[in-house]
Amino acid sequence: MSRLESDFFSDLITLVQIMVETVSEIASLWGRILQKVKEKLNDSNIFDAFFAASYVDHMEGSTLVVVANTGLAAALLDTKYRDLLNACILETTGTNLGLVFVEEEHLKKEAPVDKKPSFFKESHLNPNYTFKNFVVGQSNREAYQASLMISENPGKLYNPLLVYSNSGLGKTHLLHAIGNSIREKHPNLKVLYCTSADFINEYIQYATGSKVGDSLDTYFKNEVDVFLVDDIQFISKKPGTMEMFFVVFSTLYAQGKQVVITSDQHPNELNGLDQRLRTRFISGLTLDIKAPDLPTSEGILRSRITAGGLDVNDFEAEAITFLAQRFSSSVRELEEALNRLLFYTVNIKQTKHIDLAVTKEAIQGLIKVQDDSSKLSETKIIATVADYYSLTPSQITGKIRTSQIAMARHISMYLMRTLLDDPFEKIGQALGGKDHSSVMSGVKKVEKALKTDRDMQDAIKELTNRLKK
Ligand code: ADP
Ligand code: MG
Repeated sequence: MSRLESDFFSDLITLVQIMVETVSEIASLWGRILQKVKEKLNDSNIFDAFFAASYVDHMEGSTLVVVANTGLAAALLDTKYRDLLNACILETTGTNLGLVFVEEEHLKKEAPVDKKPSFFKESHLNPNYTFKNFVVGQSNREAYQASLMISENPGKLYNPLLVYSNSGLGKTHLLHAIGNSIREKHPNLKVLYCTSADFINEYIQYATGSKVGDSLDTYFKNEVDVFLVDDIQFISKKPGTMEMFFVVFSTLYAQGKQVVITSDQHPNELNGLDQRLRTRFISGLTLDIKAPDLPTSEGILRSRITAGGLDVNDFEAEAITFLAQRFSSSVRELEEALNRLLFYTVNIKQTKHIDLAVTKEAIQGLIKVQDDSSKLSETKIIATVADYYSLTPSQITGKIRTSQIAMARHISMYLMRTLLDDPFEKIGQALGGKDHSSVMSGVKKVEKALKTDRDMQDAIKELTNRLKK
């Protein structure tokens, strides 16, 4: 556990301890604090007028909700005497508790603290990602169908649904599409979309006490009917957050609420994922999205062209096929290439009719730009190897060791050694901090395989060609 996390843990424990204090314990705590105030203030008139009648109504997380006998008293405690109170709280309890002051009159009429949940304020659904503009093909059909069914019957069919794939293949799009569709068909259901990074963030703020009010699991219990969580992989190796996620997940699951999760890998491949979470994640339906096949890629291009207000007939079929073939490993790249083409034909070589030649020119530009900025480099080797094996560069530089990833990593080491003549240390650094000896052994493995293994020979040949282009 990291220092930071163990700190959060101890804060969390303190919080929980404070929360279980009984009413009478809280009352006596306040009595002791007031005693301190009385000593320090050393003015019995002031004390009697403003402090003596005050009491703690209840606690909100680690915040004391203090009732004062008049509005003026509440205002004064909140301003002029706040520092004094804080000092006395620290001396009495050894912790910093939050303070909220209310006038007795108001207590019955309105909630003392704004009870509206303050979690996930920044999380929104993107209305541009819908089922309607999701192009369905062989590679994503199952994930699409399952998503559609879930949006018809949230919580009833597959729970959780987990969709995994390499990046740029439509996970986030589908997640928002589910959310948008549920909002439309079941307007009474409360949908929350967030990334696991957002979740970590909220957890940290909650655990360190800077967010008072509802606890995170209470928030989920009351305010979330459909939980869409994107890129769960980032939660790995964060025990505090995983623990909280487990509680939240179990709460939602027990209430029959729909959970949909995306990941860049199958949960079994996620290093450092809590075993209980792994089991839960795959207990519903687990599906992957593959790179789009040619007709799907072409369909996506046509759909994007039309959506941009252009006429597909202005594009020669060969041009579309060329793009679809060249950028097939990720829809995101496909979109970038199309944007590049449109930019080129509007701004550089103005033409309305888009044929294969102009498409190649436009894309050539894209490749040149990339080449100029990075001649043959470690980064380029990693990117090329990643592309070759349908991995992301961060998988190669990361720590996960499936056989496929490990091989890609060893090949990257080998290429850096032979093409760049890099020292082992430098190679290790480029690959995310691997040590000297693992680089050496990686290079050796490839050298050995090259003697007998046809696939390895082909791979190195093809990669060397690509890198020399
Ligand atoms: P991921 O979350 O898997 O990394 P995204 O959902 O962000 O991928 O998709 C990347 C881009 O590609 C987005 O602009 C998305 O709209 C688009 N996209 C992906 N798959 C499809 C599809 N089948 N049809 C239409 N657009 C798609
Ligand atoms: Mg995504």
